[in-house]
Amino acid sequence: MRRILFLPVILIMALTSAFPESGKIITKSPIVILTFDDAVISQYKTVAPLLKKYHFGATFFICEFPLKKSVDSIQYMNWNQIKKLYQMGFEIGNHTGHHKNVTKLDKNQIMNELIFIEDKCKANGIPKPVSFAYPGNRTDSLSQVVLKEMGYRFARAGGSRCYNPTTDFSLLIPSYTMGSAQKLQLRTSKALENLKSGQILVLTIHGVPDVLHPAYSTSPDLFIHYLKFMHDHHFKVIALHDLGKIFEHTTNFTLK
Ligand SMILES: [Zn+2]
Repeated sequence: MRRILFLPVILIMALTSAFPESGKIITKSPIVILTFDDAVISQYKTVAPLLKKYHFGATFFICEFPLKKSVDSIQYMNWNQIKKLYQMGFEIGNHTGHHKNVTKLDKNQIMNELIFIEDKCKANGIPKPVSFAYPGNRTDSLSQVVLKEMGYRFARAGGSRCYNPTTDFSLLIPSYTMGSAQKLQLRTSKALENLKSGQILVLTIHGVPDVLHPAYSTSPDLFIHYLKFMHDHHFKVIALHDLGKIFEHTTNFTLK
């Protein structure tokens, strides 16, 4: 009898003492999750050293592209560089083997795309990824089922809104796309300025800069401006898989 009464009380305490608005606690700081897509070389050369300087965590979502010109290969990281990111303490996530729109694939094809990156990770001493980012932010129920079956805990999509762990499925985590293009810049700046204590903002970032995809490029100056803003406002800046560690501290709360 006592046990039945006790558990709901703990649960209510865990939920209310946490996020004042959406429900759960974790930390008093606003939380930003940095995710970098497509294995762009500037993520290794520019982004990683800056993140280390600020002691920020991040997830790098890796895929391989069919290269249109041989010169394009210098625009992407090789697996030695990806391995170094892991050794620096960053999370390596799966972005499909070949940047495939998963909504056009059958179950086996999705599995093969996931396994392609898992095998490369294994060969390079990187743990099997637990985080995934949908290429082009395109998702459907089949891909979510396959991800769950294959042991993925977090999957990032688009949507330009904050992530609410009490209502959002952890394989359908919304994010804002960062970029120097005016529309992206306005959205990201506003989202960061409005981020409240305990809220979670996930950012999707491509190259800093991104030579091959200028529409999604973020200039190093703008990127540094955002890093300073997060640092000066005491934001907690983490990788996607760190969400698991945060929630493990809140008893009786499980991610959806
Ligand atoms: Zn991508």
